[in-house]
Amino acid sequence: MSVESFYSTSVRIIVKGIVQGVGFRPFVYREALRYRITGFVCNTPEGVVIEAHGKHCEQFIKALRENFPVQARIDSMEIEPCESAAYTGFEIRESTLGLGSVAIPLDSALCLACQTEMDDPANRRYRYPFINCTDCGPRYTIIQTPPYDRVRTSMKHFTMCPECLEEYNDPTSRRYHAEPISCPNCGPKLTFLDNSGNMLEGDSIALAVEMLKEGKIIALKGLGGFHLMCDATSDTAVAKLRLRKHRKSKPLAVMFGSLEQLETYVSINEVEKSHITGSIKPIVIVDAQSETNHLSSLIAPHIQRLGVFLPYTPLHRLLFESIDFPLVATSANISDEPIMIRSSEIVGRLAHVVDGILDHDRTIINALDDAVIQIAGNRVVMLRLGRGFAPHTFALQHPTDKAVLALGAHQKSAIALGVKENMILSPHIGDLGSVEADGYFERTVQTFKRFYDVEPSLLVHDLHPQYASSAYALTQKREHYGIQHHYAHILACMAEYGMDEKVLGFAYDGTGYGEDGSLWGGEVMVADVHAFERIGHLKPFALLGGDKAIKEPRRIGLSLLFDIYSLD
Ligand SMILES: [Zn+2]
Ligand SMILES: [Zn+2]
Repeated sequence: MSVESFYSTSVRIIVKGIVQGVGFRPFVYREALRYRITGFVCNTPEGVVIEAHGKHCEQFIKALRENFPVQARIDSMEIEPCESAAYTGFEIRESTLGLGSVAIPLDSALCLACQTEMDDPANRRYRYPFINCTDCGPRYTIIQTPPYDRVRTSMKHFTMCPECLEEYNDPTSRRYHAEPISCPNCGPKLTFLDNSGNMLEGDSIALAVEMLKEGKIIALKGLGGFHLMCDATSDTAVAKLRLRKHRKSKPLAVMFGSLEQLETYVSINEVEKSHITGSIKPIVIVDAQSETNHLSSLIAPHIQRLGVFLPYTPLHRLLFESIDFPLVATSANISDEPIMIRSSEIVGRLAHVVDGILDHDRTIINALDDAVIQIAGNRVVMLRLGRGFAPHTFALQHPTDKAVLALGAHQKSAIALGVKENMILSPHIGDLGSVEADGYFERTVQTFKRFYDVEPSLLVHDLHPQYASSAYALTQKREHYGIQHHYAHILACMAEYGMDEKVLGFAYDGTGYGEDGSLWGGEVMVADVHAFERIGHLKPFALLGGDKAIKEPRRIGLSLLFDIYSLD
């Protein structure tokens, strides 16, 4: 006899994991009808709560465990007997208010069902740039505060038309409680702006297509921010982008109109293909094939690897209806600062870079870059935690009794929050050190506190006192703890692979502030979760100009020459 059978007539179930904003409640509803269960399902700050009464509770629970929606992830399911109650049916209840520690739902790429609908001239969402359903569309990027309900997202400004409302309220519809649901009658609208922010008359997509065909650069508002886009086959267009953006040689990602098109430029293996075409569609770094490659050589100069991806929003897809060449699609930002999310930022700071802006009025609340992955030995190696993967929650081996906020370093900033048995990693934020970037960093901290309803009691920061993240920690009136940069890298690696034994760690990561006040680099440590011993390191040398030498390696070269030769 299974555990469930002991109390098979009335149970209360709490499901934790990614169970909000992924069609979980309608799924529970359908299973309840199937097994003639009465009661209710509800989103709460603790997770999804289900009260189930009926003879087939055991089968119902089994179905919940086995058939949950593709976007969902069940971390735990607590089941306990409850008082029997006389419900006449099964209902989906309004979310109970209160801030939550539940996993935040993640943004996902346009699903196949929505794709079919937007291609169908008879469908009321034919060519609709904001089509979505419970399986796809924006999530984290539009959430102001959990639990995930339309009134707490940027979709609250759009009143549903009667047809959308009917779908939203129909438990058999695939848009039942799809919070960002909308249609051409009631949803967000596209606009096309020139680089001074003036709206241009005409079909916005046609205007964007025209500019791209002329070799111009546009900014396009995607899920988590703006992309800068131009013809990836044109040296002139790519050179213009590099020149205007002051980005000499750092590789640019390329978006292809279809898998067929992508495969004529790069050759990919089956694992890479499954990620390129999957439900997230991150940027995947693959081998560039020089023989078949007709992309501009300025995309990734002197590098045999290329970041590729497919259109993941209906808007990107519409663009490729009329364009038969691949497009550069790089985050709209200044150097490696956080991605921009408002057209006013583009006009204010990138007007010299773009010729036009494909904009819309669905506000991005939380910025989110594209995730970047590569496949090594059939395993995903995460290079940039972003759209579709972040915020990422994972279970801690040792639950923490304090809420701990780790603030990261200075470049490629990200934060992590430890609460009870979970650790939540933020998306990639970007390099700190500018007013905009530091402001965005602080907003992310506030967002995390709000999302997970905690006030961290311990702040963990890099030892370098001049990092913006350390400065932030030191100005807060909270307990704080500085941690050596390379040791932190080794600990992060241990956490990723679930290790807590003593390890021999190699951290060759440029410079980091050492415990002796000098800058360390190239460290070999014997470390565990409590302490480390520095058993080897590169020979110290002078950094001419201090931190400046880190960005200008020729200064280091000169310094090493001074070490070997005298000035004579
Ligand atoms: Zn969909
Ligand atoms: Zn509508």
